[in-house]
Amino acid sequence: MCGQEYLVGLELETISDRLATGRSIKLCCNCAHHSVTWVANEVERSQIREYTAAVRFFVADKGRRARRYALQ
Ligand SMILES: [Zn+2]
Repeated sequence: MCGQEYLVGLELETISDRLATGRSIKLCCNCAHHSVTWVANEVERSQIREYTAAVRFFVADKGRRARRYALQ
């Protein structure tokens, strides 16, 4: 809506599970212009899917680096 959307209190695992099972995911915006909560539509769901994939990649990458440093 205005680029200030937030996933409402959900863990990454819960979000992935809901995407996979087709259950609803709530988003909210609490900026200067809006104070709303809504259920993600198909477009938003695909954005969330990309987002969770990116977060997973980042977390996995960080884990690898931490292990590498630990070995040195
Ligand atoms: Zn807003």
